[in-house]
Amino acid sequence: MNKYAIAIHGGAGTILRSLMSESQEKEYRAALLASLQAGNKALENGGTAIDAVEAAIIVLEDNPLFNAGKGSVFTHDGRHEMDAAIMNGKTLEAGAVAGVRNVKNPVKLARAVMGHSEHVLLCGGGAEEFAKEMSLPFETDEYFFSQQRYDQLLEIRDTGTTQMDHSAPNNKKFGTVGAVALDVHGNLAAATSTGGMTNKRYGRVGDSPIIGAGTYANNQTCAISCTGHGEYFIRAVVAYDISCLMEYKGLALAEACHEVVHKKLVALGGEGGLIAIDAKGNIELPFNSEGMYRGMKKQGEEYWVAIYGV
Ligand code: ASP
Repeated sequence: MNKYAIAIHGGAGTILRSLMSESQEKEYRAALLASLQAGNKALENGGTAIDAVEAAIIVLEDNPLFNAGKGSVFTHDGRHEMDAAIMNGKTLEAGAVAGVRNVKNPVKLARAVMGHSEHVLLCGGGAEEFAKEMSLPFETDEYFFSQQRYDQLLEIRDTGTTQMDHSAPNNKKFGTVGAVALDVHGNLAAATSTGGMTNKRYGRVGDSPIIGAGTYANNQTCAISCTGHGEYFIRAVVAYDISCLMEYKGLALAEACHEVVHKKLVALGGEGGLIAIDAKGNIELPFNSEGMYRGMKKQGEEYWVAIYGV
């Protein structure tokens, strides 16, 4: 029997202690802890890594503090288009959805794509139709509306730029969410869910639902969930690159993460971070931004959450 472990993130970006109130910080820490607890509960008593990452993500999707599910950011045309993915490191099965609207928990839909369709990635209306077939819950536009997020859009709507949610100048930082886990059977899993970037074009898809870019899991190497400026993470094929450095070059998890997050991505200009776990339960939480909402829990150890860089 292996020792189980789980790690989560709630987005990386310009997250500064000086701009965060004590009560805000408390809320974030409580939310990260609740997510870890849900994941940990799923892993206890022989539960699977895939159930654990889904459970951890659902808690964050339902929390308006994070840019996923309920708290998703606005597109340029004032809507919400969400991306999510999940991958099973044992079988290399994966499911993902892109640009879905009004689906309450996109990670559940990604899991349904993995388990109940012949496909890996469904997008837009087709994915929503599939959600209905799977009897997954939908929510109204009001459910996804928040004044803070709308203000974020209005601030940059006419600038022709997109913005990572957690890099908003007013420090109302909420990020993409992700989870990676190792279960007692030695299986790895990863999942990521996001509303993308504020002011993104209709139809823009980020790295999160792209298997190998923002999400990847393979029992032979590691499980990874990324957060950051998605276009760079796609171009650098971040998650699979880390796995490849381990598989083909024999790098340890920490070395592989360092190579990609602090060298390759930095050289390209890609801001962000990721969470990673290997089959021995080693966990890495690297980021090249000011901070990253993050946490982990290993069997027999205390819960641990953090927000800022050193
Ligand atoms: N990676 C996400 C995207 O580009 C954004 C984020 O991590 O917050 O869609």
